[in-house]
Formats: sequence, C-alpha cells, structure tokens
Amino acid sequence: MGFEEIVGQDLAIKALRRSLLRGEIANAYLFSGAPGSGKKSITNLFAQALNCGSEDPPCRNCLVCRKTISHNHPDVYHIKPQGTSIKIGQLREVKESLYYLPEESGKKICIIHDADLLTLPASNSILQILEEPPGDLVFMLLSSRPWALLPTIISRCVHFALLPLPPEKMSFLLKSHGFPTTEDSEIVIALAGGNPGKALHMSSGSGWEKSYEEAFSLVKDIEGGPVENIFVKAEELSKRDDLRELLEILLIIYRDRLIYKMNGCLDNVLIKKFLQLNNSRKEHKSCSEGKNFNLQENTFFLEKICRNILQLEGELFNNINKRLAIEVLFLKMRGAV
Ligand SMILES: [Zn+2]
Repeated sequence: MGFEEIVGQDLAIKALRRSLLRGEIANAYLFSGAPGSGKKSITNLFAQALNCGSEDPPCRNCLVCRKTISHNHPDVYHIKPQGTSIKIGQLREVKESLYYLPEESGKKICIIHDADLLTLPASNSILQILEEPPGDLVFMLLSSRPWALLPTIISRCVHFALLPLPPEKMSFLLKSHGFPTTEDSEIVIALAGGNPGKALHMSSGSGWEKSYEEAFSLVKDIEGGPVENIFVKAEELSKRDDLRELLEILLIIYRDRLIYKMNGCLDNVLIKKFLQLNNSRKEHKSCSEGKNFNLQENTFFLEKICRNILQLEGELFNNINKRLAIEVLFLKMRGAV
C-alpha cells in the first residue's frame, strides 16, 4: 500500500503523484492541517516515494522505503521542537550536511515537524538555504498553524492544506480499519469533525463516551453547581494536557444546544446523545446536584459561549494564564458576565 492508503486529500495526493511521475520536485513543501489530519502520513509516504525505485512509488517494501519508515535513512533528517521551539542550534547541526551529496542515490530530505515553532533565527536559517538550495534537497514542513510561519517561508513552499474529510469518507476510513457503521461510529464521526486521526483514536480507545460525558458533567456543574466549582475546575483543567480536546467537545455541546434551540432538530446523533444524558439526569435528579439544561435557553447566550470557547482555543497557542482564562469562560457559561 502506498498513497492509496490515504483516505481523502485527493487533490494533494494527485498533485504529489504527478510531480513524482514528471520528476518535477520542488525544494520545499508545506503540509498544513489540524493534528490528526494526515500530515505525517502523507509526508512519510512522499519521503519514501522520492527515493524509492519502484514503478509506482512508494512500494513500502524496498530497503529505501523501510529505512525511511523506521527513520534510519541517512539522507532523511527529522527536526522536531526541543521544548517549546525549534532552535537555530538544531538547524546548525544539520545545515552543513544538507549541502553534501546524498549518501545514497536520490534526494536529501529535511522534515520539520511543528514548523510553526521555528524561532525567528531558525526560520531565517531555512530561508538562507532556500535562497540557493542544493538541487537534491527537499524540505517538508508540517504545521497545524501555518499562519504562524513567516510569510517568506510559505511563499517558497508548495503548500498543501489538508481539509477535513466529509462524513462518507470518514465512514469509509473507519470501515477500512475494521470499525463497522454503528450509532457509536456515527457519534465518533460527528465528534471528530472530519479529522481522520481523531476518529481512529476515538474508535480504538475507551475514549469518546467518557470524554463526552465528562464535558457534559462539566457544563452542568459550571452552569448550575456551587459557584466554587468554577475556581476548582479551572485550576484542575488548566493543568490538563487534553484541554484543547475538552474545549472542542464543550463547543460541540453548546453548538448542538444552539441548533436544538433554533429548530428543535433531532436528526443529529450528538443531539440525541445530549438529550439522552439530559433526560437521564432528570430521572435521577434526586441523586445529582444542580439543574438540568434548560433547552428553551437564549440563543444569544449559546452563541456567545460558542464564540468564547473558540477564542480561548486560539489563545491557548499564546502564553496565557490558562487558569484565569478558563475562569473567565466559566463565569460566562454561568451567565455571570
Ligand atoms: Zn520502495
């Protein structure tokens, strides 16, 4: 299996195959898309294909492909962030060898993961190389935040923006990985929002149901529980590594409440799940604290919270005080500000 194992991203795959066929390879490529969108899979296949000698590369079987897959190919360099950034020193370590001829025949490939974390000096070092690049050198930059890259770097790259997959492609992807279509898989597809990596992760773990129920309880606690919950939960969440995922599910919950409020739509597996949880809480009200969601709530309030969650998701990329930012969001969810 080569490029055909990639589900979706047809335009990018077609363009890469055409370049390989014609031998027209650029000096720099940028693959952008959310974490889980397939950047690494496509880059790894393309890196194999550049040096694989088979008729329809990559074959994934020859020594070149296998060495590339296991990160043992002497001409394929991987640069990843050390701590919170990719530093000039990391570029200096490899820069000289990028100008040497490949140790094996073919291309030298420098794959830069999370390229948006390049420091300014490191970015400038890449720009210097790209001004007069050795003919056999190919940079592959991966980024989930391409807007944070220097425009001068982007302009020198062939840019493939990986888009979310439509539900039918997601369903095909899950089936091809042995997950049949069930109500659960439909919920996974809805939660994953077109992100193949996320859908596979959710399907293979114990994951989504627990995460969804946790987010549901959190909203319930913040909106209707004791006010101290705001500060306790904000402190707790600010230390979590999966804060971004939790915010995404919170956003889905508020979006679904908004949709339900606007048109009473039940033709959505997630809204059904939400109502099911909400009703089960009503039945066991004596055992639970706080109120159930009022589904007749104000659309303005729901829309405002959606915007605030999106804003916080964006701010997480900056060096913000997470606890304080979450507290502000929670106060808004409670209708206090
Ligand atoms: Zn091969």
